[in-house]
Formats: sequence, C-alpha cells, structure tokens
Amino acid sequence: MFLEAKDIVKAFGAFRAVDGADISVAENEIVGLIGPNGAGKSTFFNCLAGDAEPTSGTIRFLDQDLTRATPEAHARLGMARTFQVPVTFEDMTVLQNVMVGAFLRHPHRTDAQDKSRQVLEFTGLAHLAGSPARSLGTPGRKRLEIARALATEPRLLLLDEALAGLTPAEVRLAIDLVRKIQQQGITIIIVEHIMEVILSLAERAVVFHQGKVIAKGAPRAVVDDPAVVSAYLGHHMKRVRM
Ligand code: ADP
Ligand code: MG
Repeated sequence: MFLEAKDIVKAFGAFRAVDGADISVAENEIVGLIGPNGAGKSTFFNCLAGDAEPTSGTIRFLDQDLTRATPEAHARLGMARTFQVPVTFEDMTVLQNVMVGAFLRHPHRTDAQDKSRQVLEFTGLAHLAGSPARSLGTPGRKRLEIARALATEPRLLLLDEALAGLTPAEVRLAIDLVRKIQQQGITIIIVEHIMEVILSLAERAVVFHQGKVIAKGAPRAVVDDPAVVSAYLGHHMKRVRM
C-alpha cells in the first residue's frame, strides 16, 4: 500500500482529537477527507506528515514506518503538506518562499531557483515571482502554499483546506490545478469543506467525526449517508453552485 495509517490516536491530555482513525491510499488517487470543524482532520494530517507524533497507531508510507519520523524525513521520502493557516515568509518574495521547498532536493541555489520558477509557472504564479509574499491576497497565498509543497517534489500531497476562502470562480481554477497535479502522478489527500470540490475531485471520501472515521466510499454516497448528515447537524456543510 502506498500510504497506510492504522488505528491512529492523538491525545491532548484526556482528550482524543484523533481517536483510532485508519486510512489507506493507493498511488495516484485523490482522497477527500471531510468532517465538521473540530473532527480532527488537521490533527490527523499533522500525524501523517510528522508534524505531530501519534499517541499510538502506525503510519506506513512507501513501505517505510514513518510513525515517529521527523517532518524532514517525511518530506525527503516524498510527503508534502499545506497548512490550513498558510505558513508564509512574509518579507520574502514569492520565488524565495518556493525556494524554501526546492532546497530539499536542490542544494545549489541556481538549481533551486530553476525548480522554483518551473513550479511558479505550473501553479500560475510566475508573474508574482518577485513580489513580496505579504502583498498576496487569499487566492495567491493558497497557491503559494501549494507551490512550496510542490517544490519539494512530493509523491503524496496533503491539502488542508487549501481552497478555503476562495470565490467560486477561484475555486474552479484551483480544482483545475489539483487535477493537473494529479496528472503529474502525484497522490492527493484533500481536506475541504466545499462539498462540490470533494464531489468533483475525489474518487473516494473518508468522513471524520470526533476523531473517528464514520464513513467512507464514493463521495456522492458518503455525502448522502444519514450518519454523515447527522454528524454535520449544527455544523455547516457548505454547498455552493459552481
Ligand atoms: P479539524 O481540522 O477537523 O477542524 P482539528 O484537528 O483542528 O480539527 O482539531 C480537533 C480537535 O482537537 C479540536 O477540538 C481542537 O480544539 C483540538 N486540538 C487540536 N490541536 C490541539 C492541541 N494542540 N491541544 C489541544 N487540543 C487540540
Ligand atoms: Mg482543520
């Protein structure tokens, strides 16, 4: 299996933000990870990417046990992620921000710069290469997060609400970008509240609620599953027409 996480628990004191979650992902698929706010999706991503150490459980990626490996080890093996709250180096240019990712595989500055320019081209940010990151609006920042992750040349990309805060037109463009990323052979797990994004992109959906996987399967079936609808009661299941 390309990625397999088994029985992942992440506890903060007595509270289990992730409470025995499993996921397995095949190479080159797009898996949608959904669930109401506070369900534990970001914490689960933190565990997958090595940004948090699971309390228990195992994570295997490309036949290696990464359960307690550092974020750097994850990145080197080919796992990259975006953060729900973009981690941007505000005073650096867009190009320099992407180079931070590119240095992982290109220690020489000119190589890192070449790689970064390619990624900026691919993500539609080339015209902003010299702009300070702080001058970017929401769509630009979201794209920059994705660009920096892609610059590490991942085989698996974890997108944590990378499309949140975009207008419907921007969401459509971002969906096209995610498809283009998949066409490069990259596997994607996407956390997203906009159901149309999951319905149009994901081949499979996994639903989190209170740290547990409560449903999985074809996105359309999962979204209509009564257990899922009830998990979202009192929460916002965002539906937009695109
Ligand atoms: P989601 O991404 O699905 O909205 P999160 O993973 O961000 O959910 O959060 C899941 C739960 O874990 C929330 O109740 C949140 O308050 C809690 N939580 C997340 N990180 C921490 C932490 N570092 N310490 C204590 N509680 C946390
Ligand atoms: Mg989150």
